Amino acid sequence: MTARILVMPGDGVGPEICREAVRVLDALASDHGLDIELEEALVGGAAIDAEGEPLPPASLDAARSADAILFGSIGGPAWDDQPRENRPESGLLRLRSELGLFANLRPAILYPQLAHVSALKRDIVSGLDIMIVRELTGGIYFGKPSGMHKNANGKREAFNTMRYDEGEIERIGRTAFDIARARGGRLCSVDKANVLDVSQLWRDVMNEIGREYDDIELTHMYVDNAAMQLVRAPKQFDTVVTGNLFGDVLSDAAAMLTGSIGMLPSASMDANGKGLYEPVHGSAPDIAGQDVANPLAVILSVAMMLRYTLKRPDLAKKVESAVGYALDRGLRTRDIMDDEKQIASTQEMGGAIVDMLR
Ligand code: NAD
Repeated sequence: MTARILVMPGDGVGPEICREAVRVLDALASDHGLDIELEEALVGGAAIDAEGEPLPPASLDAARSADAILFGSIGGPAWDDQPRENRPESGLLRLRSELGLFANLRPAILYPQLAHVSALKRDIVSGLDIMIVRELTGGIYFGKPSGMHKNANGKREAFNTMRYDEGEIERIGRTAFDIARARGGRLCSVDKANVLDVSQLWRDVMNEIGREYDDIELTHMYVDNAAMQLVRAPKQFDTVVTGNLFGDVLSDAAAMLTGSIGMLPSASMDANGKGLYEPVHGSAPDIAGQDVANPLAVILSVAMMLRYTLKRPDLAKKVESAVGYALDRGLRTRDIMDDEKQIASTQEMGGAIVDMLR
């Protein structure tokens, strides 16, 4: 069956990097039998300029009916003065909640060819391959009650509620176990069960569903220790599952182990395998329109789409190998360059990946 892919390029470097990702998808369709149909929709600042809002109804409808979404990036100084509900970012947040994208997958992979760009020593990070699975639609960012008021002593007081029910934990837990099964077979669940009731429930539910996945090695780690272990010995991790708040912090820390934001893909998935795939980085207004942005994060997001929504792990591997070959050949965009290598433009890097796929 033909898979429908919606491309939402957005703002800043979004359109130029998405163009390269679309060339990759076209090459897979024409040369490797990938059965897809592409459509494009406005989002973010581009949608505000054209339609007055960051997620126009036509874009939301197109996203609802697509099988997968390839998202560039949104935002930029031109829209910083918009009221919060009409800022480009609210288009993305709304898209995630309307589509029920509760599982955020953030791989932190360091290609050995790029070990020099990490701030950590080469032997600690070279070959790093971690997948962080973060719950995205619950926890303290959404828990009620929340707010700010004056308390009985006349002091301003603010509060948020960390809340998960067992269904929400089970849903993200099963996603993470399935991912661990397709990877190295090890899952580390991160919580703060020594202090928080909600973490105790998290741990209990992970243990309960873990009994159904007896081929997966399940371990637990407190979040403070996890933060320490991520910088001390990150290669001990295979797949990590955690709640919204802890995942927000740990996934950014893990991303930075790799030292190169232009290389990092991500996915946000619903319960049926539909996903929104996007680079971790933003719209990079400082380099937009100069043909210097690294397109590999969004191209690697295509690889995630192939693996998790289109169920073509063979083609996902082809794309990832093509990225590896390009790096082996010394191709580097400016953000991952070292002195002896040649600097490739956005289009040259994209073209090199397409050539290798052909
Ligand atoms: P950013 O990720 O856009 O840029 C941070 C730095 O990384 C910049 O120096 C940029 O040039 C560089 N960089 C980013 N992507 C790159 C790439 N592909 N190749 C080479 N270098 C790259 O973060 P920021 O500067 O904090 O934010 C800029 C805008 O992006 C803001 O409006 C912000 O709100 C928005 N933003 C959007 C998303 C998203 O679309 N999901 C995520 C984060 C930030």
